[in-house]
Amino acid sequence: MKTLNDFNFKNKKALIRVDFNVPLDANFKVTDATRIQAAKPTIIKILEDGGSCVLMSHLGRPKGVQEEFSLKHIVSKVEDIIGVETQFVNNCVGEDVEQAVANLEPGKILILENLRFHEEETKGDKGFAEQLSKLGDIYVNDAFGTAHRAHASTTVVAQFFTENKCFGYLLEQEIKSIEKVMKTGEKPVLAVLGGAKVSSKITIIENILDKVDHLIIGGGMSFTFAKANGGKVGDSICEDDKIPLALDILKQAKEKNVQIHLPVDVKAADKFDNNANTQICDINNIPDGWQGLDAGPKSLEQFKDVVLESKTILWNGPLGVFEMENFANGTVELGNFIAEATKNGAFSLVGGGDSVAAVKQFGFEDKVSYVSTGGGAMLESLEGKTLPGIAAILE
Ligand code: AMP
Repeated sequence: MKTLNDFNFKNKKALIRVDFNVPLDANFKVTDATRIQAAKPTIIKILEDGGSCVLMSHLGRPKGVQEEFSLKHIVSKVEDIIGVETQFVNNCVGEDVEQAVANLEPGKILILENLRFHEEETKGDKGFAEQLSKLGDIYVNDAFGTAHRAHASTTVVAQFFTENKCFGYLLEQEIKSIEKVMKTGEKPVLAVLGGAKVSSKITIIENILDKVDHLIIGGGMSFTFAKANGGKVGDSICEDDKIPLALDILKQAKEKNVQIHLPVDVKAADKFDNNANTQICDINNIPDGWQGLDAGPKSLEQFKDVVLESKTILWNGPLGVFEMENFANGTVELGNFIAEATKNGAFSLVGGGDSVAAVKQFGFEDKVSYVSTGGGAMLESLEGKTLPGIAAILE
């Protein structure tokens, strides 16, 4: 695996695919610069070597050229964060851009205009990728968030750099974190899968059964399993058509020696509302008209034991409807357990959509080992897929 440290960038121009798809307010000010911060180590290494950085990214989902999606809005933020003069060019291919790159001095940054102003980007157009490839001596991919897309700038461009291509520090860290869970992690390895539906996590569950010792299934997904086991789940979210699948997963887990932990009790509500009436119920005995919206106290006690004895932990998906204050406790407590296990030396990776949102919302970001920057890319990695953006560097 070729990484930044395999190269010296002195007098070289690095063409870096970053993920600067950041949120902007009505005045086009960046409201969350996490993604720019995340690319900083890569940019600094190249500049300190004596190279220059040509940064390319997408922003939003423009239809053709749309001013509001221009990357010019983020230039001053990049300059603030990196602390280096940053230029901007209002296209990402063509003669003017090539000239701007030719004029770029070592130690300086040039940001190209939004790649998605050209439809060839998302189509993975080879000619467009070739034009991009003229803009650097070494191609660096540091955008995990788009690594599952075979776009021109994330994948196709790499074929024009036979040797001179590598992962940036951020992408390297993402890959190593996933490997730690899926391949090299210290045992016991635990995965906590929560969220709404079995159907959206099924490929992950099937893939992960070969990698883990323990699997906690929480959130809305757990009711399909409880019903499959003969339980009465009231009005809880449940996919009846996935009951045979749930039974098959339980059987496979037994064969593979994976211990599955389901909630034993839940906080049930008489409607899907933060102010609903609530009661704690056995998960297998939820009255009609009531739905489980969070893990109950006995479940959390059991989950705590499993988390604290694990040495490698993957967390994807909340244990309840954490967006509502009265049903956030299970997710917050799980975060506390994982934070404690991490403090005791476990490696913990949080990835994929809503668990990342929960971790940020409840302040666990610095208390776990790694929070992934890619939603879809993380989910596809956990499903065992090879991401095209990663494969393109390895080829
Ligand atoms: P996912 O995107 O599949 O990870 O699902 C995340 C969503 O699952 C969140 O919006 C949660 O509110 C929701 N969720 C978690 N537990 C439950 C539950 N018991 N009933 C309904 N929705 C749930």
